[in-house]
Amino acid sequence: MTDYSDELANDPAFVQSLRLEDVLKAYDGRRGCMCGCNGRYYVRPETKAQASEKRGYPYTAAEVDAVEVARILDALKADSRTRIQDGSILFIEDRQPGERNLVVYLLKERPA
Ligand SMILES: [Zn+2]
Repeated sequence: MTDYSDELANDPAFVQSLRLEDVLKAYDGRRGCMCGCNGRYYVRPETKAQASEKRGYPYTAAEVDAVEVARILDALKADSRTRIQDGSILFIEDRQPGERNLVVYLLKERPA
């Protein structure tokens, strides 16, 4: 297992090495508030329990969608503006008006 250190922040090779298995949850929404009013969060079946515990209430069946999580991760990996924040959040920096907020939250410890 690997710890996400600050040294990994903004390392393009690290971003490219990320896999679906490294993701806790993902978000896709319009710019602005990220409480869920502007978009949606998605979790993988394997992370539903952990993500629900963190959020404080359960993710619904409609929010358990590994295909959406993979789509968001792939979009971030394909964008050179993707940055890492706080060691576990992947997002696109300097989004332009009209672009969507795409965010991936990584598991704190990387699966082997
Ligand atoms: Zn909101």
